[in-house]
Amino acid sequence: MARYTGPSCRLCRRERMELYLKGDRCYTDKCAIKRRNTPPGMHGAGRAKISDYGLQLREKQRVKRMYGVLEKQFRGYFEQAERMKGVTGTNLLVLLERRLDNVTYRLGFANSRAQARQLVRHNHILVNGQRVNLPSYLVKVGDVIEVAERSRSLAVIRDALEAVARRGVPQWLDLDKEAARGRVSMLPTREDITMPIQEHLIVELYSK
Ligand code: SF4
Repeated sequence: MARYTGPSCRLCRRERMELYLKGDRCYTDKCAIKRRNTPPGMHGAGRAKISDYGLQLREKQRVKRMYGVLEKQFRGYFEQAERMKGVTGTNLLVLLERRLDNVTYRLGFANSRAQARQLVRHNHILVNGQRVNLPSYLVKVGDVIEVAERSRSLAVIRDALEAVARRGVPQWLDLDKEAARGRVSMLPTREDITMPIQEHLIVELYSK
């Protein structure tokens, strides 16, 4: 599957916000957004006023890039969100939050969602004691997500767990840091998603 392999910081500069794609570096003064928050390219800083369509498109691209999801899959989440009870925009964000790669990142087993995706793919993560190597697996209330025993000593996971205090673990997840194990105590709510996302713009875009 085609996936963007260029510089991550370029995506943040394009979206003009921190998407936290590079792990630890994102929390330091080396972050490209903190140093130079202008769109990439020679004329990035001088771009004309953005249209309503442009705003909607940018918001969709931001969320897609933040969660590392491609267009077709993102559209699938939107359609699923539309079929669910409640507010479509909120449903969409909740579905994305429930992805196993996101939960692995949120629990602090990885420093970025990209790193989390790789851990899941390489069988380092168990759900309810079983290996699950699908980053798009949607967790449910009561699911126990843990690092496989043989993987607990990996430096990348130990370092990420040390750094989790800086980010914090959302209230819908319970973390036992020593055991590298977490539990989904409830489903996330809109308030748990603290990134400045205007999901109504995505709904408007796809409802045209
Ligand atoms: Fe984005 Fe992280 Fe790069 Fe900052 S350091 S621009 S948050 S990927």
